[in-house]
Amino acid sequence: MGETTRRIRSSGGQSRAIPVDGPTLIALCDGYIDMDLSRFPDVVRGIGDDLAIADGQDLDDMTLSVNAFLIVAGDRLCLVDAGDGTRRGAHLGNLPRALKQAGYAPEDITDLFMTHLHGDHAAGLVVGETQVYPRAMLHVAQDEIAFWQNPSALDAIQATQAPVAEAALRVYRERLVPIRPGDLILPDVRVRALPGHTPGQVGYQLGHANPILISGDVLHLPALQVKHPHWGFVFDADRANALTTRKAILAETAQSGLRLAGAHIPFPGVVGIVDRDDGPNYVVMQTDD
Ligand SMILES: [Zn+2]
Repeated sequence: MGETTRRIRSSGGQSRAIPVDGPTLIALCDGYIDMDLSRFPDVVRGIGDDLAIADGQDLDDMTLSVNAFLIVAGDRLCLVDAGDGTRRGAHLGNLPRALKQAGYAPEDITDLFMTHLHGDHAAGLVVGETQVYPRAMLHVAQDEIAFWQNPSALDAIQATQAPVAEAALRVYRERLVPIRPGDLILPDVRVRALPGHTPGQVGYQLGHANPILISGDVLHLPALQVKHPHWGFVFDADRANALTTRKAILAETAQSGLRLAGAHIPFPGVVGIVDRDDGPNYVVMQTDD
């Protein structure tokens, strides 16, 4: 097993502070998902194998971190995404433990900011019909709500995620807050449109001089997709649009020095992009501890 794979599989329940000039940001690891390469049908073996090996991974034994992020801004304690919950075993559902390691409990969370409502981001919001975060307002992009409220329009792959999305919207319906790209949801935290993976996917951009974009599922496998952004994921609802968004965000990241935080970027889940002679490369960004 490669070193990166080993690290991804052992990070569940951990928290890590990320330096940002604005609110406090803490990466939280819910666990990991083992990933069959058939989920990435465009990956070219050989080229992909070399990239994976150079990154401490193995295309025949791929695994993805499942991360969430905590924003602490004054008396607001905001969780961006909520992990997969405990429905799939102990390799997932470790977010409450990570939160505890950071010094907080689920009851402390005042706001939930969702990037989108796929299971690995939203299943951790509920246990049955009970809210895991009993005080929190649930902020979801208007287009994301609309997508899941029209189940007859979903394709077969997206339909597998509908029960989780519907449960989240139902169980938190009295504290559901629709948001839109451009909204300033906290001082120094703005909503950005990241359509494609789902039509209503959004990110959250924090900070000024050294900003970070919490980018949901724009990028699943940085070791492969930074160099080959067209190697898409079968759960991208609109793969052409997901590619457009992925390329735009990667280019912006390389040009501007933006940092990218991602739900599936190896924990602690923050990378930068640098252009080198061999093309764009991702670099793991520093954390505080
Ligand atoms: Zn995801």
